[in-house]
Amino acid sequence: MEASTFQFFDFSTFNRAVICTHVNPDGDAIGSSLALKLYLERMGKQATVVVPNIFPDFLKWLPSADTILIYTKQAELAKKAVEEADLVIVCDLNQPSRMAGLEADIMASTAPRILIDHHLDPDTNFCQEMHSEPQACAAAEVICHILSELDELDNISHDEATCLYCAMMCDTGAFSFNSNRPVIYEYISRLLARGIDKDQIYRNVFWTASEGRLRLQGYLLYVNMRVLHERNTAIITLTNDERRRFKVKNGDTEGIVNIPLTMLGTRLSIFINEDTEHPGIMKLSLRSVGDFPCDQMASRFFNGGGHKNASGGKLQCTMEEALDRVKAAIETYADMLK
Ligand code: 5GP
Ligand code: MN
Repeated sequence: MEASTFQFFDFSTFNRAVICTHVNPDGDAIGSSLALKLYLERMGKQATVVVPNIFPDFLKWLPSADTILIYTKQAELAKKAVEEADLVIVCDLNQPSRMAGLEADIMASTAPRILIDHHLDPDTNFCQEMHSEPQACAAAEVICHILSELDELDNISHDEATCLYCAMMCDTGAFSFNSNRPVIYEYISRLLARGIDKDQIYRNVFWTASEGRLRLQGYLLYVNMRVLHERNTAIITLTNDERRRFKVKNGDTEGIVNIPLTMLGTRLSIFINEDTEHPGIMKLSLRSVGDFPCDQMASRFFNGGGHKNASGGKLQCTMEEALDRVKAAIETYADMLK
C-alpha cells in the first residue's frame, strides 16, 4: 500500500466512479460524497453516490441529494452502479464493515479503490490509495486538502463548496468541537469565496424540527434521561414504540446525545436508540468531553469504534439488557469518571 500521496488519481484511467460511505450516513458522509460526485462530474466523469441505508431528511436539500442510491431500497441499481464502476472512492469510514452489507459488492469490484477519511486506525488493506487524516475535522476537510494540493479548491462550484461546508459544519457541531485547527478556517474562507450561504446551510440543517421532534426531545430529557451522578454520566434511551408515539423518523434524534454534556461536570453521554430498520438492534452513540476514550469503550463493549470524543456501536438485545450492559461498561471506567 502506498502512503498518502497527492497524485490523487489519474483522470485518464477512469470514466465511471462510485462513491460510497458509511451506514447511517451523516452530514459529513453525504456532504463529502456529493462534493466528490459534483467535482468529478464537472471534470467530465460519471459519478454515482451509493449509501448503505437511508439518510436524514435534513440533508435532502443538498445539491444532487436526490441522485443518491440507497442500498437497502435500490439494491439492484446500486449493485449495477458498483459493477460498472472503474473507480471506487470510499469516503468517511475506516473499515469495510462500516458499509453494513454494501461492502460485499464494493470488495467484489475489481476497480481500484481510494479512501478519503478522518477516522483513527484505518484498515490499510482495502484501498490502494489512502488519504487518511485522523486530525481532520471531517472527511470534507481531507477533500479540501486534496483539492487545495491540486490547485482546484478556488475553482470549485458553488454547489461543491456548499456540500463541503455542510459536511464540516455537521461533523463539528457547527464548529463547536474538534474544530480548533486554523487550517479549517482557511478552507472555509475559500469556500465562502465561492459564494456559499453558510447561514442558510446552518438553518437548513439545524432549524428543521417538526413538532414531534421538539416534543420527543423534551420527553427524552425529562422522562428518559438517567443521570449517574457518581459517574458524571448520562444515559438516554429510545425505543421504536416511543418513536412511533411521537411520529418521528431516523434523523430526528440527531444531536440529542450531545445535550447532556451541557450539564456542568458531565463527562460522558450515551444514547441507546433502537434501530428503526432493524428492530431489536440497539444502536449506541457515545460522546465525551476531555480525555474519556469513547472509541475504546465502544470497541471493548459495543462492537463499535469511532473517535475519542464521539463513537458508536450496536448491541443485539432488549433495551433493558442494553441498559444493563451500558451500566456495566461504565463501571469498568469508574476511575476515569469519578
Ligand atoms: P454516531 O453516534 O453519530 O452514530 O457516531 C459517532 C461516530 O462514531 C461516527 O462518526 C463513527 O466514527 C463512529 N461509529 C458509530 N457507530 C459505529 C460502529 O458501529 N462502528 C464503528 N467502528 N464506529 C462507529
Ligand atoms: Mn466524518
